[in-house]
Amino acid sequence: MRATDPQILDAIKNVLREDIVIHSQNELFEKVKQKLSSKDEALQVSAERMRRVAKKYGVKVKVHSRKGKEIKTCPFCGKDLQDVVSNDLFGRSTTIGKVCKTCRFEIGIGRTPARYIFRR
Ligand SMILES: [Zn+2]
Repeated sequence: MRATDPQILDAIKNVLREDIVIHSQNELFEKVKQKLSSKDEALQVSAERMRRVAKKYGVKVKVHSRKGKEIKTCPFCGKDLQDVVSNDLFGRSTTIGKVCKTCRFEIGIGRTPARYIFRR
C-alpha cells in the first residue's frame, strides 16, 4: 500500500525524535522505510516523495550542492526553476543561480544537489 503524506510525515518525525539531524537523504530514507514497515503491512514510499513531504510540512531541509549538471525543476515541488539575475560590477546582468518561486529553493548556476540534510 502507498503511504499517505501524514504517514510519511509521522515516520519522519519519529526518526527526528531520535536524531536531531539526519545527514543524508539515504539515511533518512532507510529509517523512514523501517518505521513504515513496522506496521502490519509495509507502506510504500520513494526517496523523492519522502523529501517532498518533509519540505512541504516544514521539516528543515538543507541542500548541499556540487558542480554538475544543472537541474531544471525544483527537487521539492517539481516546478520549473527561474533564473536569479544579478548586476555585476560593470552593470551587466549575469545569471548567478536558479530559484523556485513556489518554495524558495535556491541553487547556484552550474550546480546540482549533492546532499540533503534534515533537521528537527
Ligand atoms: Zn519548489
